[in-house]
Amino acid sequence: MDKITEYPLKSWLDVSPGSDFPIQNIPFGIFKAGLASPHATTRIGNTVIDLFSLAEHGFFDGLGINPGVFNSPDLNPFIKLGPPYWRSLRNQLAVLFSEGNTQARERISGTTDVLYNATSVQMLLPVRVGDYTDFYSSLEHATNIGIMFRDPANALLPNWKHLPVGYHGRSSSIVVSGTAIHRPRGQIKPANSESPVFSPTRELDFELEVAFITGKKTALGSSVSTANAEDHIFGMLLFNDLSARDIQRWEYVPLGPFLAKNFGSVVSPWVVTLDALEPFRVPGPVQEPEVLPYLQFTGNHNFNIQLEVFIQPEGQAEFRVCHSNYKFMYWNLVQQLAHQTVNGCNINVGDMYASGTVSGPDPGSFGSMLEIAWKGTKPVKMPDGSERSFICDNDTVIMRGYCEKPGLRIGFGEVSAKILPSV
Ligand code: MN
Repeated sequence: MDKITEYPLKSWLDVSPGSDFPIQNIPFGIFKAGLASPHATTRIGNTVIDLFSLAEHGFFDGLGINPGVFNSPDLNPFIKLGPPYWRSLRNQLAVLFSEGNTQARERISGTTDVLYNATSVQMLLPVRVGDYTDFYSSLEHATNIGIMFRDPANALLPNWKHLPVGYHGRSSSIVVSGTAIHRPRGQIKPANSESPVFSPTRELDFELEVAFITGKKTALGSSVSTANAEDHIFGMLLFNDLSARDIQRWEYVPLGPFLAKNFGSVVSPWVVTLDALEPFRVPGPVQEPEVLPYLQFTGNHNFNIQLEVFIQPEGQAEFRVCHSNYKFMYWNLVQQLAHQTVNGCNINVGDMYASGTVSGPDPGSFGSMLEIAWKGTKPVKMPDGSERSFICDNDTVIMRGYCEKPGLRIGFGEVSAKILPSV
């Protein structure tokens, strides 16, 4: 088990108060400095650390890790090594960068190819995503959608409390934070029109989600139990499931979302490990009725992750439109993975599983504009006097996530996406 988070370790690298990246975090990502090829990296404070260079300098000798796994445009070769290696690397990094390690400090400070300022590098998509699933696991979100679009008295469909509803999404359009997305065009059917029209979406929305990444391959025909599920999970990141509501409304019956959700799904660049999140485990909501045996679990598998969404109109300050929490999720990640595989569906290293919109009980914690502005009936007043029922062209949507308790903050950084006009 990981020990980094259990004692008040400090780093010789500068970590400002409120930083998402103290030495207890040690998330993983892929970065590129200038014209150099991309390498695996971690981050402490505002310092981005080249793991390939550290390995080449011999700092990971004895861990049994081939330095080549870090010389890669994605984390998949490293992830493939398995949980004992993820853990021993995190522990070794904590040793190298802890305050008292003056020897490592001198040696590392003497290199020119290990430490970079976070603002001087480019962060890339951290994994090569094989398959992508989007769940629908927030009770509050599913209830809100049911009230708005179906029947307030029967907001949840009959299956909802018996299985984690999900659909298979598209991985090719998952992109890293900072990627600008053009407003998508497609078929929409205006309420006053007999037939559909072709138009840029008029209802562009975000969905505030947290995704986990699988780190172990399974064979077709095998299943992952709730008891073993966390051994198959490498870590988590923030996920903005951009959605075109009008396109979605016209296309989704009977097979679910299609072009309304595959024009750009934006993720944060740092993968935070479950080990780093360990101090923030909390019980989830009580599940009633009782779920089938394959979905039952022991222990706490919800995490207290504060989640925020900001809209930043062009040239203006960010304005917070949502403050939610991952702890509200009705279905947890071990149930999601057990359900995904219960039929024998195989999984691969680098697959991504998004939670579904994370809405909480209060209107201030709703995780999409559809809910926040309640189908356009309660538009958000922006500081400049303008209103938002959905996202406007040239708005930037920024999501942040962090866990906090006295003396410890483990953050995800942010996922940011600017919306450009339709092409
Ligand atoms: Mn979604």
